[in-house]
Amino acid sequence: MIYILFSDLSIGTIKSICNCGKCKERGQVEIFIDELNGEYKDCIKFSDLFDKREVIAISENLEALKEMQPIINNSGNTVAIFLQQKLLEE
Ligand SMILES: [Zn+2]
Repeated sequence: MIYILFSDLSIGTIKSICNCGKCKERGQVEIFIDELNGEYKDCIKFSDLFDKREVIAISENLEALKEMQPIINNSGNTVAIFLQQKLLEE
């Protein structure tokens, strides 16, 4: 499972990736996001994954993302970006 920490500090998981005709037309796949309880949460563009205004961090480690929530909440954006870079290095 791949988990995503969004900029609103919610956490979702990647349910599926769509590459239908419409996506091919757009030249960009769609990513369907579920809540952690399995309910539909959102559908985002592939490029949103790399937009720091949308996504703070991506990880297979849900606990790590949960630990980041209060840190980011208390410290703002600079720290979030720092943590994201650190996460991607690992
Ligand atoms: Zn599609």
